[in-house]
Amino acid sequence: MVELKTDTSIDAMYEAGQVVGQALTAVRQAADVGVSLLELDEVAHGVLRAAGASSPFLGYRPSFAPVPFPAVVCISVNDAVVHGIPTSYRLRDGDLVSADFGAELGGWAGDSAISFIVGEPRPADVRLIETAEHALAAGIEAAVVGNRIGDIAHAIGSVCRAAGYGIMDDFGGHGIGRRMHEDPPVPNEGRPGRGLALRRGMVLAIEPMLLAGGRDDYHAAADGWTLRTNDGSRAAHVEHTVAITETGPRILTAR
Ligand code: MG
Ligand code: MG
Repeated sequence: MVELKTDTSIDAMYEAGQVVGQALTAVRQAADVGVSLLELDEVAHGVLRAAGASSPFLGYRPSFAPVPFPAVVCISVNDAVVHGIPTSYRLRDGDLVSADFGAELGGWAGDSAISFIVGEPRPADVRLIETAEHALAAGIEAAVVGNRIGDIAHAIGSVCRAAGYGIMDDFGGHGIGRRMHEDPPVPNEGRPGRGLALRRGMVLAIEPMLLAGGRDDYHAAADGWTLRTNDGSRAAHVEHTVAITETGPRILTAR
């Protein structure tokens, strides 16, 4: 069931979204050659504590997961697409990092992700990340009353495919509210004019995941969480929590 949010609830979700934006900004600023992924998790944890917010990621255990998620941020490096567990791995020059972070504040959740490069960027990685950001912008632009879920999915998928990148068919965006994952699913590829009609008060996490190799194949790593490309190519993941309002899409996790 899709729950519509009031304007007051959306304002409250914006407050949660601001904590998410602050944490991702802090993670990005802290990420440097030689810094470990566990250190980045501690940075994100510090933002949560300072805001009096809690983590919907820590201890999260969906049906596919062998163990509860042990951190407050997912850090996926290079061929890891999403759900990376922070480890003692220390970032190297040229690493492509995707950080996905959620916060709960005042009973409302926010969810957002960024991809960036540590040190000297490779042109192919810059293009991948820029395309992911364009896909996200296209998806957000389609999140308007009068459209359908398929219009968002089609907008995202078109940008990814036109650039020759692969997509994860089993993972995508979602409704969000009091819980991090609510109905409806928001796929990263679809047919325009199809699916649920978008209505004022819907809040969606829109999150393109792009696989540079152009194939749609991926697998779970030995930790049971991290999803990696099968061909070893790099991946990018960007996300915003977006409310559908009378005056258009409102990005609640804007940084
Ligand atoms: Mg997320
Ligand atoms: Mg999400």
